[in-house]
Amino acid sequence: MVEIKTDAALEAMREAGRVVGRALAAVREAADVGVSLWELDGVARDVLADHGAKSPFLGYRPSFAPTPFPAVICASVNDAVVHGIPTEYRLRDGDLLSVDCGAELDGWTGDAAISLTVGTPRPADVKLIEATQRALDAGIAAANVGGRMGDISHAIDTVARSVDCGMPPDFGGHGIGRSMHEDPPVPNRGRPGRGFPLRHGLVLAIEPMLMAGGRDRYRTGTDGWTLFTTDGSRAAHIEHTVAITKDGPRVLTLP
Ligand code: MG
Ligand code: MG
Repeated sequence: MVEIKTDAALEAMREAGRVVGRALAAVREAADVGVSLWELDGVARDVLADHGAKSPFLGYRPSFAPTPFPAVICASVNDAVVHGIPTEYRLRDGDLLSVDCGAELDGWTGDAAISLTVGTPRPADVKLIEATQRALDAGIAAANVGGRMGDISHAIDTVARSVDCGMPPDFGGHGIGRSMHEDPPVPNRGRPGRGFPLRHGLVLAIEPMLMAGGRDRYRTGTDGWTLFTTDGSRAAHIEHTVAITKDGPRVLTLP
């Protein structure tokens, strides 16, 4: 079922989204050579606690997962695309890190992700992250009243193809509200003018995942959670929670 949010609900979701934005900003600030992924989870955990927010990630167990998720962020390094479990791994110079985070506040949820480079960036990683940001921006720009879901999907896919990047075929964005994953799904590939009608009060998590190797394939790691590229190429993932409104798309997960 798709829940269309009232304007009051959108304001409440903005507050949940703000906590996510702040947590990710703090993680970005802390991410450096020698810092462990588990330490970054602690940074996000503190921000959530400071705002009285809960984590929709902690203990989350979707159908594909063998174990409940043990952290408040996903931390995916280099050839990990999404769903990386924060470990004691310490970031190294030149790593590409994607961090996904959620927050639940007053019954409403926000979900967002960032990708960044650690220490001395590889030029190819900078380009990959920029392309992923462009794909997200294009998806958000297409999130308008009167449009269709396929407009968003097509906008993301067009940017990904223009830079010869692959995307995991069966993972993408989603509706979001009282829980993190709601209907409708937001595929990262689709036909313009097709699919779910976009209307005022629909809230979507839009999240392109670009794989530099160009293949639309992934493999699941031995932890049962982490998605990796099959060719060892690097991946980036950037996400915002976005409300479709009569005044245009409104990003809810900025700090
Ligand atoms: Mg997310
Ligand atoms: Mg999401």
